[in-house]
Amino acid sequence: MTIFLTNPEEGRDALQSLFDEAGRCIGFCGAGLSTESGIPDFRSPGSPWLSHAPINFADFMRSPTLRAEAWRRKFAIDDAAGSVMPNRGHLALAHLVESGRMDQIITQNIDGLQQKAGTHASKIIELHGNGTYATCLSCGLRHELADIRPKLEETGHAPVCDACGGPVKSATIAFGQSLPDAVLREAVVASRSCDLFFVIGSSLKVRPASSLPLIAKEHGARLVILNREETALDAQADLVIRSQIGPVMDVFRNDDVESFLEQKKIIPISAP
Ligand code: NAD
Repeated sequence: MTIFLTNPEEGRDALQSLFDEAGRCIGFCGAGLSTESGIPDFRSPGSPWLSHAPINFADFMRSPTLRAEAWRRKFAIDDAAGSVMPNRGHLALAHLVESGRMDQIITQNIDGLQQKAGTHASKIIELHGNGTYATCLSCGLRHELADIRPKLEETGHAPVCDACGGPVKSATIAFGQSLPDAVLREAVVASRSCDLFFVIGSSLKVRPASSLPLIAKEHGARLVILNREETALDAQADLVIRSQIGPVMDVFRNDDVESFLEQKKIIPISAP
């Protein structure tokens, strides 16, 4: 039976007791986690991601023109988001991991804000990659956005790898591009072996990521979903908290937030 809560305070209490009872906990994040930092999610009204038909991976590989267009769109979205900082949700998750109450975070997000909030990269499984840098699709060499942008703006051409001449792409997974096997395997293993699977800010509509909560559930975990709207898996959850993320996640903030932020050199955005 699913318990539905809409009051953030009740949600906080329920979450706290589930965490108190849990052994191994996995967090599973979606684009909703970062909206309080000013990055739009994928499906909410006005999404910049849906203002153009997405360029799928096969087209990116086939067409230098579409490659350049994909890069122009990426920089336009980055510019619109501005210089983003972690919010209360990211900070609470960082504290949960640091204090040993959350074992790992599986994230669909590509914004790097969980690392910026202080969660060590080794604790984060980035299912859809990371948009804060780029890689060569032929030799795998890392490229920095700051080097790519001026060349794109000067020549209008998509970047190619300095080392091998291969196509360079933001280090994210495009539509039609497979997730790396090793990353998916690691996420499946984590999902199978937890006893609390905590979804934060995802519509749970993107496959194969959306199969992970069900894998956890099939292997005996409790499933908790924190999201301001209905999700595809609400009926399968043990607890659904339908609320903004920040006010609920405050329950897990470090008691000594100031020194935590100082230690991690984080300047948080103000609470909405
Ligand atoms: P989604 O847009 O499909 O779903 C986000 C959900 O979060 C929505 O149901 C929305 O109602 C909810 N939400 C938004 N802000 C919230 C808030 N403050 N509090 C509570 N709920 C909130 O996103 P998804 O499920 O992650 O899937 C979209 C795909 O797009 C993912 O693959 C992701 O890689 C990509 N994406 C990533 C980012 C990012 O890195 N920040 C941003 C946009 C899209």
